[in-house]
Amino acid sequence: MTGSVAERAGARAGIVVTGTEVLTGRVTDRNGPWLAEQLRLAGVDIAHVVVVGDRPEDLTRSLEFLATSGMDLVITSGGLGPTADDLTAEVVAQAQGRPARLDTDLESRVGGIVESLSRGRGWRTDPEATAAGVRKQAMVPEGATVLEPVGTAPGLVVPVAEGRSGPPVVVLPGPPSELQPMWPDAFGTAVVQEALRGAVELRQSTVRMWGVPESQLSATMRGLDLADLEVTTCLRDGELEIVTRYGPSSQEAYDAFVAGLVDEHGERVYSPDGRTVDDLVADTLLERGWTIATAESCTAGLLAGRLTERAGSSAYVLGGLVVYSNQAKHDLAGVDSALIERVGAVSEEVAEALAAGARERLGTDVGVGITGVAGPGGGTAEKPVGTVHFCVSTATDSVARRVQVPGDRAAVRQRSTTIALHLVRELLARAGSDG
Ligand code: ATP
Ligand code: MG
Repeated sequence: MTGSVAERAGARAGIVVTGTEVLTGRVTDRNGPWLAEQLRLAGVDIAHVVVVGDRPEDLTRSLEFLATSGMDLVITSGGLGPTADDLTAEVVAQAQGRPARLDTDLESRVGGIVESLSRGRGWRTDPEATAAGVRKQAMVPEGATVLEPVGTAPGLVVPVAEGRSGPPVVVLPGPPSELQPMWPDAFGTAVVQEALRGAVELRQSTVRMWGVPESQLSATMRGLDLADLEVTTCLRDGELEIVTRYGPSSQEAYDAFVAGLVDEHGERVYSPDGRTVDDLVADTLLERGWTIATAESCTAGLLAGRLTERAGSSAYVLGGLVVYSNQAKHDLAGVDSALIERVGAVSEEVAEALAAGARERLGTDVGVGITGVAGPGGGTAEKPVGTVHFCVSTATDSVARRVQVPGDRAAVRQRSTTIALHLVRELLARAGSDG
């Protein structure tokens, strides 16, 4: 769901991510999102990210499409290596109408890098093949600016041939560790600066909501003034993430929009400033000087893993118990076996006993218990797949919930960690307001 911005001046860019490994999903694209964020920070609107395999005709088409779609700048990633399937520089040279020539200075610089790399890694290389690869990487389209290699591949800024119109193309290497350090060099070139001269500051802010259906948010949004805001809402892991982009002159309109959301949905707008539930839980535990421990059955440590993703989490996470079997629930978390026998492992009572067990065994302020049916097997009429019981407790307070979590096994396990974090957040907020 996207609101529209009546008029957008400024600069727009398109990205072509190349590589059959990215196209087929073997490698997840990290360059498109990273470049998009850099461009946004520079006030450039990102219009298209196109992914193509290593076929020159597909790359040519993508370049044509972007050149005729009003882009001010086009950026490519990948395909700059020495091997035959690395064709980007050649294809871009052709598309821009600028024939490539061997740059002998560059050839000797790349040759030097390749030689010292080979020596450092103890490779035995065929000198002729190496020289051919180096020569290929030193072919520079006429009038292009060379970006010095970070690995072995130089990047390029290729303006369109004189007398023709179209955006310049920035050609960057595929490995993110090479592309990222090269971007500032590319951005600083006169050609790119000139292409992006229309850039205007574009702010981006995020609001997070929990416990509100998307349809209800849509209804709220229909009643608010979004004329100068570009609002995108995304349902993720049961949370609503509302990302808004706007120009500096629309700051007041944005603030009014957030106030309108809070008016309508109150505390369910749990993060008006974009902090994640993970951030909020970590920050609150740190502020209070409180500690936390988990006892997890169906999530088997995923929550503990998530709680410890942040550097410095040892200040508040003391540990976690993975209690998959009934025996483990008894032996590790001290859950009464007779209780499990009586009410079943997936129950409110056992979730409560797990939270208390985690707290007592690890000596923490807060304990979390999770027990449920992740599926695909193991469901019953009474406790179908996706039934998960949660309990978060301190010595004096607790929050418990039974949730029917939708989705497959992986989704149930993932979503359960998010639900548990929200319950921790609720308990901490309550403890805060009480005293
Ligand atoms: P090389 O000299 O390493 O061949 P290159 O510029 O030719 O560099 P590619 O061949 O396209 O780049 O990609 C090399 C490797 O870099 C890929 O196998 C992949 O691991 C990584 N890579 C490439 N593109 C991306 C991307 N968009 N996102 C994440 N990783 C990528
Ligand atoms: Mg390659």
